[in-house]
Amino acid sequence: ALLITDDCINCDVCEPECPNEAISMGEDHYLIDPNKCTECVGHYDEPQCQQVCPVSCIPFNPEWRETREELQAKYERLMREK
Ligand code: SF4
Ligand code: SF4
Repeated sequence: ALLITDDCINCDVCEPECPNEAISMGEDHYLIDPNKCTECVGHYDEPQCQQVCPVSCIPFNPEWRETREELQAKYERLMREK
């Protein structure tokens, strides 16, 4: 999963780009729900939020590293829940 740091300027550009609706406004800035972030696996070749963020504040979450297979399984679970 990816992570939004407190460098976020709340520009609102990433939120509509997320195919999994994993991004939402938190207390101080936007946040990513790691249970919903597939790093865009299943939808796109690149993480869409990272591509559009004007201040590059969306790194990989070091506490939440997953293999491509795990991300694919998460994608399939999210599709089933839709
Ligand atoms: Fe959403 Fe993709 Fe960003 Fe994860 S990497 S938060 S799935 S846009
Ligand atoms: Fe924050 Fe970047 Fe998303 Fe804008 S695009 S709301 S700066 S994380």
